[in-house]
Amino acid sequence: MALYVQKFGGTSVGSLERIESVADRIARSVRNGHQLVVVLSAMAGETNRLVSLAHQVSADPDPREMDMLISTGEQISIALMAMALQKRGLQAQALLGDQAQILTDDRHGKARIKSVATDNLDRLLSQGIIPIVAGFQGRTDQGELTTLGRGGSDTTAVALAAALKADECQIYTDVDGVYTTDPRIEPKARKMDVITFEEMLELSSLGAKVLQIRSVEYAGRYNVPLRVLSSFDSGEGTLITYDQIDGQPPMVSGIAFNRDEASLTLVGVPDRANVAAQILTPISAAGIEVDMIVHTTTVAGQADFTFTVHRNDCSQALALLQPVAQSLGAQHVKSDAGLCKVSVVGVGMKNHSGVASRMFQTLGQEGINVQLIATSEIKISVAIDEKYLELAVRSLHSAFELAEDN
Ligand code: ADP
Ligand code: ASP
Ligand code: MG
Repeated sequence: MALYVQKFGGTSVGSLERIESVADRIARSVRNGHQLVVVLSAMAGETNRLVSLAHQVSADPDPREMDMLISTGEQISIALMAMALQKRGLQAQALLGDQAQILTDDRHGKARIKSVATDNLDRLLSQGIIPIVAGFQGRTDQGELTTLGRGGSDTTAVALAAALKADECQIYTDVDGVYTTDPRIEPKARKMDVITFEEMLELSSLGAKVLQIRSVEYAGRYNVPLRVLSSFDSGEGTLITYDQIDGQPPMVSGIAFNRDEASLTLVGVPDRANVAAQILTPISAAGIEVDMIVHTTTVAGQADFTFTVHRNDCSQALALLQPVAQSLGAQHVKSDAGLCKVSVVGVGMKNHSGVASRMFQTLGQEGINVQLIATSEIKISVAIDEKYLELAVRSLHSAFELAEDN
């Protein structure tokens, strides 16, 4: 008998029909002798609907009240699922994050899980009751309700699997595994049977939303066996492995992208050592995450300093930069809120040269101008005009021979 944590995402529980179908799947697993802890997202579209309600009431909703609101979507899906399972003659109980003893820090809207106690879950499991846990939420040690950031139910599932030492954490979604790129952008994308933890971490951090980045980090910290599979079809899905994969790894194994990038440039700043810190300190003090950074010397003693942020942070960053630009004597500040980032990822890059040249050649042939570049041992990212996103992903997918028929 194995113990699995099974998480079902928004589309998987997006209607009553889908809830009934997932309940059938859970019932089959239980009748096959497995112990399950189930984690659910809100029904598809529900969290967005709640966010939009808040913004109709307030331009700047209080983060505590926002969590109170947006955590309710999961409460609906878990209660309905428990009822659907009970109808099938199974014992099940819906639990909020608090009842599942998920303790977080107090950063509303992006809280991190600090610990999970398993007394309640252990007790239910020992009584043959299936716990149906609300994803995406927890509570602080002061008893305040928190949420874990968009896509956070993945992290709930991994954290429960780690605490319970489950045999596997299974993330059921609307695609049948992790693909070489988002199959919605490139229909020729190929499903991978296994992917290394390192590559999954890069793909998620570079925008592949099939797993929330924090869930992959958490899985790595506790070596949680993690699998992505479809709640619509059967199949083995994709296993995220902590072992080396046999054979020569391909140079590039996947392509990720992030749509909502913006760049800010201070033109004509003095070319000296502490300028970067002077520019970036007020940005990070405001809690704005900086992604790519480029510093180019233009004329003797002068440089342009460019960095990227999430598009939603662009106007705030611009306002923060104006006084800095003035005090540094910069010529002006410019911004471009219409960028995206496309990244190629592969552990095989460590031992191969030529990925960068093939990448730039491919983009050049399509007439796509690269505005910023960032690299690590196993990835190359470029910032480009958002209108070229699909073209860039598809042409790189083909240039690196990632398609099914290769
Ligand atoms: P859920 O609601 O189940 O959490 P998400 O929408 O968060 O589902 O994640 C699944 C989606 O991730 C897929 O529908 C797909 O469009 C997208 N995706 C992005 N990159 C990839 C990838 N490399 N492989 C598979 N899916 C991907
Ligand atoms: N319901 C939350 C969201 O839409 C959490 C999740 O689905 O993982 O972001
Ligand atoms: Mg998700």
